[in-house]
Amino acid sequence: MENPQLLLLLLLSSTYSIAFPVDTGSHGGDMQLVEKYLEKFYSPEGEEVPRSKSRSFNSVTEKLKKMQKFFGLEVTGKVDAETLGVMKQPRCGVPDLGGFTLTEGNPKWDKTNLTYRIEKYTQKLGESEVRRAIKKAFKLWSDVSPLTFKEETEGTADIMISFYRGDHQDNSPFDGPGWTLAHAFPPGEFIGGDAHFDDDEPWGDKGPRGTNLFLIAAHEFGHSLGLSHSSDLGALMYPTYTYVEPSSFQLSQDDINGIQAIYGKSQNPQQPTGPITPKACSPRTTFDAVTTLRGEIMFFKDRFLWHKSHRFPDIEFQFISGYWPSLSSGVDAAYESYENDQVLLFKGNKYWALNGQDIVRGYPKRITHLGFPQYIKQIDAAFSVPETGKTYFFIGSKYWRYDEYSQSMEKGYPRYVARDFRGVGPKIDAALRHNGYTYFFQGTKQIQFDLNSKRIVRDDQRSNAWLGC
Ligand SMILES: [Zn+2]
Ligand SMILES: [Zn+2]
Repeated sequence: MENPQLLLLLLLSSTYSIAFPVDTGSHGGDMQLVEKYLEKFYSPEGEEVPRSKSRSFNSVTEKLKKMQKFFGLEVTGKVDAETLGVMKQPRCGVPDLGGFTLTEGNPKWDKTNLTYRIEKYTQKLGESEVRRAIKKAFKLWSDVSPLTFKEETEGTADIMISFYRGDHQDNSPFDGPGWTLAHAFPPGEFIGGDAHFDDDEPWGDKGPRGTNLFLIAAHEFGHSLGLSHSSDLGALMYPTYTYVEPSSFQLSQDDINGIQAIYGKSQNPQQPTGPITPKACSPRTTFDAVTTLRGEIMFFKDRFLWHKSHRFPDIEFQFISGYWPSLSSGVDAAYESYENDQVLLFKGNKYWALNGQDIVRGYPKRITHLGFPQYIKQIDAAFSVPETGKTYFFIGSKYWRYDEYSQSMEKGYPRYVARDFRGVGPKIDAALRHNGYTYFFQGTKQIQFDLNSKRIVRDDQRSNAWLGC
């Protein structure tokens, strides 16, 4: 085979759960998984197999450390529950060595006008659906670089695309439904750049069900163009896969930086930009919304959330859609309704009730349903007090109070925030009720407030102090 770096994409399934079922013991199956995972993704090509037991042990520890560093886990060199959790996530099969953005050896096309041809179609989708998904996937890359992609319907194109089952004569047989979904080869002659899709997968082009061809193809074409994996969770080139609504899908700034590092800037006079993944410990970190959830805390920001759970010492960082596939980004406010064991998420004039990972039937509803007047377009922050069943909603300089027992907005509201929460406001981003205190998040600053004495307890901490920063 021309190029030994074969790129695989493993089965996606709905793996993110609020209580992640991870076996923390050194269970035989888990240890096998760890060995297989490290061998597959953290072994440089041609590395000598260690002979002695101690060398073998060290090499596992070193590989584990590399893996933990790449995924931003605590670097212990030991198999802990969180490490196992990441290993069990569906992912692409390209090794993560070094976490470079570019494929090792920097293979690239020496022209910018590339051609592709769909040589062999699938039965799972119509030809026009396949062509549309493939075209859309290439467009992501051509929109942000000098590259152009032209479809050919005969002869040999630079990037040949085929759906295959089982062995298809490239030394990397597909394996039936599940596991390997697709693979692609870095730029080069012959098989270089080609992308193969496992025809035993349930290919689809709509919704979170099935295997979304557009998203998988877009990732694989990144490899076809010379990109390797990124350690940026928000990047398309991150090795694990999370379903994102295709109609709102955007390349991240990290993907754009990657492709432009190989082929240069876009010829578009206005350089394209993409979303930048928030960093927990940046001094500029702010939150959109914060809520407790069954004793754990979730901090929402753009498309992401930080999940502070009591099972893991580290904070999990994930797409909101990794928890709730039909929710995407930009949550305005959130609170936990203890009476109903629900979390309520607010976005614009709508809200969703969530029970664990399920969206409660009948949602989203309009916020007028809670008793807000029509003119209220969005909520800034909310928190609920379990002892009294009162929920506070903050909108601009005013707040409303809702009674969870009678399920109605209380009379006499709205009132001014400045009057009842002296020193708080005017603009509140998020609020949290935790251990008997209320926390207001205003930009990078948080205010700890005592509702009984109506006084600020503390206001010298940054918002992201919760994230161990
Ligand atoms: Zn990949
Ligand atoms: Zn193949």
